[in-house]
Amino acid sequence: MTDLPVRIRPEIAALPAYRQGRAAGADAFKLSSNENPFDPLPGVIAAVQGATSFNRYPDASAARLRDRLAARHGVEAESIHVAAGSVSILYQLAQAAAGPGDEIVFAWRSFEAYPGLAVVAGATTVTVPLTADGRHDLVAMADAVTERTRLVIVCSPNNPTGPAVAQAEFDALVAAVPRDVIIILDEAYAEFVTAADAVRGEAVLAAGHDNVVILRTFSKAFGLAGLRVGYAVGHPRILDAARSAGIPLSVTAAAEEAALASLDAEGALRERIDELVARRERLVAGLRTAGWNVPDAQGNFVWLPAGEHALAVAEAFADAGLVVRPFAGDGVRISVGEAEAVDKVITIAASVVESLPLTHPARR
Ligand code: PMP
Repeated sequence: MTDLPVRIRPEIAALPAYRQGRAAGADAFKLSSNENPFDPLPGVIAAVQGATSFNRYPDASAARLRDRLAARHGVEAESIHVAAGSVSILYQLAQAAAGPGDEIVFAWRSFEAYPGLAVVAGATTVTVPLTADGRHDLVAMADAVTERTRLVIVCSPNNPTGPAVAQAEFDALVAAVPRDVIIILDEAYAEFVTAADAVRGEAVLAAGHDNVVILRTFSKAFGLAGLRVGYAVGHPRILDAARSAGIPLSVTAAAEEAALASLDAEGALRERIDELVARRERLVAGLRTAGWNVPDAQGNFVWLPAGEHALAVAEAFADAGLVVRPFAGDGVRISVGEAEAVDKVITIAASVVESLPLTHPARR
């Protein structure tokens, strides 16, 4: 840090720079960023090409998209907040709600952006370990809430381990947490969830909890990761605070048009989700048959709990042309991608599992 030419907050200077999932070579499959392998939905490219007023700023509130989303979720437009990816809204809410001395509670391991939220806001991170099968321990999370807690983040399905939180567990958390603490339900992968008992943002909204904010994104099921658009549903005053903490005019007209066109393509969207869920189920079954202990997978990714072997396992996949995401010391996340990639992952995984000690918890 001594080579810094200027004064930077030490906790920021100590942060590792953001590392993107490794790029894939021409003949490799990129399964490291939970992206959607399909082309944009019908109508999206035309809608983006129609958004040509590049000399004009976009509509700051993305009013047309907010109206559409409000109708979709049965709320008023002021209960919707659109931003350049749902990760932006996480930062906005952290900065709006938490400062030095305040605490942000989340499960760990979870989405790798969460620890940075607290650092940037100057707040303190309180992590609650996942259970052995990669699930949130919501009772322990409720117990971790103190009078300093300003934000509790629940990721369902959990990135990177896969399981969804149960509705009953979430309801108990909401009942246990003081009503002046924001609870974020991060549902980036909501559209892929098939578990009958999983928490549903819609049910949470219908229950009318003023302190719960639902986060959704167009990056995953809708396949618009490159255009950066996500949204929150929640109490208008909380979302006003998020807007105040955000950078104005971040959602481009092209992104708004693409999101609107995607919402028009309901049938094609359903087909793609069904196909990705079918691939996920094939992947999970194949990995388990190959001898891997795979947690319940409710998103568009699967988790190999390879522990201390995570980097070596990811390297073995990379050598075979499969770019996956290792989390050192924890495991390896593999996105559900192209149909051919599913078979390839299973084949490589079957040989890689043999390199783990027989008693390793990643083996079944
Ligand atoms: N939440 C979770 C759990 C995620 O995995 C991601 C993307 N990796 C996001 C939020 C952010 O998505 P985006 O900013 O693209 O909307």
